[in-house]
Amino acid sequence: MVPAESTGQHKDRVLPGAPSRPGAASPLLDIKNLTIEFGSFNPPARAIEGVCLTVHHGETVCLVGESGSGKSVTALSIARLLSSPPARYVEGEIWLDGHEILGLPETELRRLRGRVVSYVFQEPSASLNPVRTIGSQILEALKLHQPSLATKEEVVRLLAMVGIPSPETRADDYPHQMSGGMQQRAAIAMAIASRPKLLVADEPTTALDVTVQAQILDLMRELQGEFGMAILLITHNLGIVREIANRVAVIYAGQIVETAPCAELLRQPRHPYTAALIRAVPELGRRANRLHAIPGQVPSSFDRPEGCRFHPRCEFARPECQKNSPLLIPAGLGHWTRCPWHDQLPLAPLSPDSKA
Ligand code: ADP
Ligand code: MG
Repeated sequence: MVPAESTGQHKDRVLPGAPSRPGAASPLLDIKNLTIEFGSFNPPARAIEGVCLTVHHGETVCLVGESGSGKSVTALSIARLLSSPPARYVEGEIWLDGHEILGLPETELRRLRGRVVSYVFQEPSASLNPVRTIGSQILEALKLHQPSLATKEEVVRLLAMVGIPSPETRADDYPHQMSGGMQQRAAIAMAIASRPKLLVADEPTTALDVTVQAQILDLMRELQGEFGMAILLITHNLGIVREIANRVAVIYAGQIVETAPCAELLRQPRHPYTAALIRAVPELGRRANRLHAIPGQVPSSFDRPEGCRFHPRCEFARPECQKNSPLLIPAGLGHWTRCPWHDQLPLAPLSPDSKA
């Protein structure tokens, strides 16, 4: 994942010493410098600003951040699913499988939805029609995107694949006849029926109890093994990130504040916000019996602080942080942070110097 600043697309934001990727395969998803406002307010609410996010073929990237930080807005923008108005794409580009999404006519976009990207949401009801059987909905998704596979047998095979018992019978169930966990499995079956190259899963396990959460994550991993699709998983839970991510992007108040390979990010966070998120998860922090909630709240999109957006909540904030808006800077191979002081701070959760 290389922020667009390093690509030279936005000359005023080019980073000195940013690594190039000579010969690297072009990414499946490349969000460049994306800014989205909701325009029905005066001044408009800037939900995300300058967001850069890359997902390569077959990769699992997690987008992490507290509620209200811009995860869903980013996710929905990929297939241009935000209603516009009120959403306004102010700046940036979204490249998906070689197409620039923001400039694409609606008819072409419709062909990409499903075939290239499909979604699983927190509530299965967002994907499932309550008045039609599960089987008929999956069959319709197949007819639309994979007509040669549109058979009852394929529906049953998909339901079996996502772990729904007695799939021949359950295909005739309506969503309300299933538990939340089974409905989410059915929603996943529908999302993968079209064989997407990218599955965007927005908090897919948040509404489920812990045991079912683990089963759904296992399922997504298995399906990725089987189909080789890339996954963009959105979560506020770093425990989930550790289980599944290759790479991680951390978003705060509408901006990406850190991106890195997963293991490195958890071992060696380079932004105080990431370090605080890690410490808030008991099994990831150094002292398992102490939970460090991050004080304060994500500022609303109307009321962002000057300078670094995290400074009012940052235990390491300096006077400069109130004035200067930091850019993403390199902090290692494939590792970027928006904190200019990162190498002077005791951020590593496992370091003996850590305040965890
Ligand atoms: P997350 O998914 O990280 O919890 P969202 O992406 O849903 O956060 O929201 C990011 C910001 O955009 C929030 O401040 C939210 O209030 C704002 N926002 C999202 N959708 C709308 C909308 N339809 N109208 C106005 N503001 C919105
Ligand atoms: Mg959300």
